[in-house]
Amino acid sequence: MGRVGLLALQGAFAAHGEMLRSLGADTVEIRSPDALGDVGGLVIPGGESTTLLKLMEAYGFEEPIRRFIAEGRPVLATCMGVILLAKEVMNPPQRSLGLLDVTVARNAYGSQVESFEGIGEVNGGPFPMVFIRAPRITRAAGEVEVLGAFEGEPVLVAQGNILGATFHPELTDNPAVHAIFLEMMK
Ligand code: GLN
Repeated sequence: MGRVGLLALQGAFAAHGEMLRSLGADTVEIRSPDALGDVGGLVIPGGESTTLLKLMEAYGFEEPIRRFIAEGRPVLATCMGVILLAKEVMNPPQRSLGLLDVTVARNAYGSQVESFEGIGEVNGGPFPMVFIRAPRITRAAGEVEVLGAFEGEPVLVAQGNILGATFHPELTDNPAVHAIFLEMMK
C-alpha cells in the first residue's frame, strides 16, 4: 500500500505519524513536492491555513497536490487540511484548492471556545473529538458523504479519495479515522 506522507510544512503532523505507525503503516515527512512521488497517501494536518497557503506557494506544492489527488491517491485532511481542499472558504473568504465539495467557515465555534472536546459519532459509533479553532462545514454537496457528525453537523466527510475531518482524530486514542484512511490506501 506504500508509505504515508505527512505534509510537514506547517502544523500538527507528528501525532498523525504516531497514530499511523501504531496501525502498522510506514510514514515519511514531506517537505518538498518531489517527495510526493514516493508515497501512496498523504496527510494534510491541522495548523494555520493562511500560513500553509504561503508556504505551499513558496515551495510550489499546489499543482503537485492537485495531481496527487487527481491520480486517485488517498488524502486525509484534518482541520486546516479541510480548509485547504474545500470548494469555498468563509470567515473570511480565502483561496483554496476547491477539490472537496464543501463550504467551511473558519474558526466558527466562537472565539471564546478556542479548543474543546466532545463526543461525536463516526459511522454510527461514539467517537471522542478534539476541536482546535476548528472550521464548521456549513454546506456539503454533490458526492460528499458524511461519515461523522458532532451535534448533528457534519465533521467527517469523504469524497472519492479525500477523507476530511474538522476535528483532530490524531489527538485521541481512537484510531478509527486513520484506519478508514489506511483502508482507502489498499
Ligand atoms: N484556525 C485554523 C485556520 O483557520 C485551523 C485550525 C486547525 O487546523 N486546528 O486555518
